[in-house]
Order: sequence, then structure tokens, then C-alpha cells
Amino acid sequence: MWTQYYDLHSHSTNSDGEHSVDYVAKLMKDNEVKYWSLTDHDTISGWKMAQQSAEQMGINFIPGVEITCERGIEPDNDELIRQNRERASKSWHLLAYFPGLKHNCEAAELFAKWLEPLQNNRIPRMKKMIAKLAELGMPVDYDEVAKKAGGSIGRPHLAQAMVERGYVETKSEAFERWIGDGLPAHVAQPKPTISEAVKMVKKSGGITSLAHPLYYGIPSDKLAEYCRDVGIDSIEAFHRSHDDEYRFQLWQACKGHNLEVSCGSDFHGQSYGHNPGKMAVPMNDLCI
Ligand SMILES: [Zn+2]
Ligand SMILES: [Zn+2]
Repeated sequence: MWTQYYDLHSHSTNSDGEHSVDYVAKLMKDNEVKYWSLTDHDTISGWKMAQQSAEQMGINFIPGVEITCERGIEPDNDELIRQNRERASKSWHLLAYFPGLKHNCEAAELFAKWLEPLQNNRIPRMKKMIAKLAELGMPVDYDEVAKKAGGSIGRPHLAQAMVERGYVETKSEAFERWIGDGLPAHVAQPKPTISEAVKMVKKSGGITSLAHPLYYGIPSDKLAEYCRDVGIDSIEAFHRSHDDEYRFQLWQACKGHNLEVSCGSDFHGQSYGHNPGKMAVPMNDLCI
């Protein structure tokens, strides 16, 4: 049986999304989502608001977060070519869900404490990237970027400022030429390893799913084997950026390694031309 009632990956202005938590909740509802997870980058600051908004909308909220981790395994060149990608992402994103959180507050505190330094590093890192851009002849004010970020500041806010200043035509161009991983104005963030993050989430009563594997350049079976070995519960096989063939391949690889799957629109805002929801996923293999 398949369901379209779940969207387990979305962002708000608490990280690099364009919309407030309550507006994201409304869009979820409008797109027939019944089980929604807000998964802002390295922060749980939107949970309270999300819980309230979900209640108002009559949908279920699952507390989530997308943790920026070190790369798990080195990319495979043939796989990158097969997927038509120039390079693999230098960080891997781990989704963590805490469906039973209300019953386990001490664990939630523990997790929040662990997450805090990852979050707090965002501002100094942004300032360093702005300094690099200035050296490259593209000055941007920190305040100008901060104004675009409701909560946690991130690269999309910087990209937007670069578009407005006319340094690039589009936000994608900013990422592809200047602020993407390893490019001239990029500054890396200190990150936990996947294994550290998995352990911490488990200790706090959560479950994990490896986000958008398309970005990592790893053959599906090899990836599933890695996830199983490191203790990840599921893979986000049904991510918006994956075509049907890749979704199927990952789903089968998960089945072969006793992993579950998750689904997510990775919704960041309507200006990207997408809406949340409408993510078909096989009910019996879903991690939640
Ligand atoms: Zn991500
Ligand atoms: Zn995301």
C-alpha cells in the first residue's frame, strides 16, 4: 500500500526556508499532508510553534531536525557520472525524528544541548564567508543577510543578497560559482561524524534517515550497507530530487539491508517552484 500523507522533510525561517513555521504548516495542510516533520538545519527552535500550528491545522507534527555531518564515505566517480553530477557534497545530512518526544523530556534536553554548538557556529561562519566575498570584490553587509534569516542564518540567505547586489543572476549561480562546498567563498562548518550523530539521536530516543543520497555519489547498495553498519535506521529514498528509477533502486537496496525508507519534499519555499507534500511512499517500509 502506498501513501501520500507524509512529508518528513521541510524547512522554515528557523533555518534556510523562506516561510514562517505556521505558513509551512498551512501549505502542508493545503497539499493534503497529514504527518508533517519540520527538519530545520541543526536547530529545533521551530518545534514548539510547529506543534501549535499543526494542531490548528488538524495535522500531526513529528519533531525533526536535519543534522549537518561529515561525509560518510568518499564518492564513487562512476556513480557521479551515472547521476550526471559534477561533484559530491562535502557534508552528509542526517535527518533525525523524535516521534515519541513528549514522553521523554530529559532525552530531548540532552539532545538540544548537544545540538547547540552546531547551531551557534552559523553566525561566525557566515561572517567569514562574507569576508571572503569582500576579498573577491563582492562586498555584502552581514545585516543585509541576517535580515533575510528569520532564525538560523544560512547560505541561501547569502545567495539571495548576492542576487540583489547583482553579483550573480540566480541563487543557484551563487552556489555553483562562489559559495558551494569547496568554492572560493565557502567556509566549512565543524561537523559531527555520522556515527557520532547517530549515537546521540539514538540515546535521545530518536530515529534517523540519511537525507537525499543523490548528493553523495555512492552506489545504492554500497550506501545501504554503510547505513546499516553505522546504525542508521532508514534512507530518504523518496526525496523530491530523485527520479522514480533512483527511488526504486534505493528502496530495493534498503529492503536488502533491513533498512526502512523515508520521504520528503525538502521544501524550502515557493520561490523554488515547488510545493510540499504529494510524496508517494510504500507505507509498510516507512520509518515512522
Ligand atoms: Zn539537506
Ligand atoms: Zn533539507
